[in-house]
Amino acid sequence: MKRVRKILCAALAAALLCCCLTGTVYAETAKEKVDRLEAALKQEKAELAALEKNKANAEATKKKLENQASILTEQLAALLETITDAETAVGEKEQEITDKQAEIDDQWGDFKDQVGAMQMMHDTGAVAMLASCQSLYELLTFNNTMQTVSEYNDQMLDSMKTQKQILGEEKAELEAAKEELEAQKAQLEAKADELAENIKQTNSTITQAEAAAKAQEQVVSLTQEEYDRAEQEWEAYVRQQAQNAQGGSSAFTSDQFIWPLPGYSRITTQFGETQNLNGYIKPGHKGIDVGTSGATPPILAAASGTVTVARYSSSYGNYVMIYHGNGFSTLYAHMSSMAVSQGQEVTIGQTIGNVGNTGLSFGCHLHFEVRVNGTPVNPFNYFTAA
Ligand SMILES: [Zn+2]
Repeated sequence: MKRVRKILCAALAAALLCCCLTGTVYAETAKEKVDRLEAALKQEKAELAALEKNKANAEATKKKLENQASILTEQLAALLETITDAETAVGEKEQEITDKQAEIDDQWGDFKDQVGAMQMMHDTGAVAMLASCQSLYELLTFNNTMQTVSEYNDQMLDSMKTQKQILGEEKAELEAAKEELEAQKAQLEAKADELAENIKQTNSTITQAEAAAKAQEQVVSLTQEEYDRAEQEWEAYVRQQAQNAQGGSSAFTSDQFIWPLPGYSRITTQFGETQNLNGYIKPGHKGIDVGTSGATPPILAAASGTVTVARYSSSYGNYVMIYHGNGFSTLYAHMSSMAVSQGQEVTIGQTIGNVGNTGLSFGCHLHFEVRVNGTPVNPFNYFTAA
């Protein structure tokens, strides 16, 4: 048991020794970590963009469907009005038919009364009575009158029956038209139902896309945090190397700084300010932004030192960090081009690159940071814009 423990201890010691001896392996690992996270971030952001596009597409589809639905609602409203008009017309026609039938019934009733009276007179011998006491002329007149009444009634009834028939035909036509309208209404309603169902589905697609985008945003934000930490670790390592190389001889003091962008002093974002980068809210601005109104002038090293970083990152774009000694570093971001490389010694006032618009940037500007032992501080503690 003791021997096993001894072997384990020896192995552990060897492993520790290994780690200490191969410091450069750690440096590579840190750089590799930064590169790996940078690549991961790029892919995750691309996925996020795709998800956001899905959401935008679904929203566009919904808008189109809603437009169609609104047109359909208008059509339905107009159709309902037409149907109401048709119903009114059918109702009016029905009333006319009822009125006509009443007229026919009245006429028929009058006729029946007249004929009935005459028939009664005839049957009861009233006519004979009449004949006996009246002239033959009067008898003939009575017969003629009876015939005229009968003919007149026949004509009247025929005419009214024809009128009623025409009204009936008109009513049938109106009803057919109304039925046609009802069929159209049913079709429109079916379409409206279908649209409503489509809108419902699109809403659920939007909700899903939104949730997916939100989840991906979380993934991106976590990787971004990890990336920022890895980058800081790497920079700290390179800075340490520079510090070691300088030995204890560094006599840098912050009053040696010169303004890195002569002729440009318009500050577009102050240190610590919250930025809105096209809807992406980023609090705690780590440096100051110096606007150049589209120009890309050369950037000067604010003091002599060692270039600890000269690379591209998705947020900083092309950026350079210089370690000056006594824990002081300066950082220059969003460059259009870099004129120095990592490990290079630069002297104060030397051109290290040009202003640009690379990385997470909207317009040409110099993002300038001062870090003390790796922590960003307000550059205006040491600088005046010149
Ligand atoms: Zn900035």
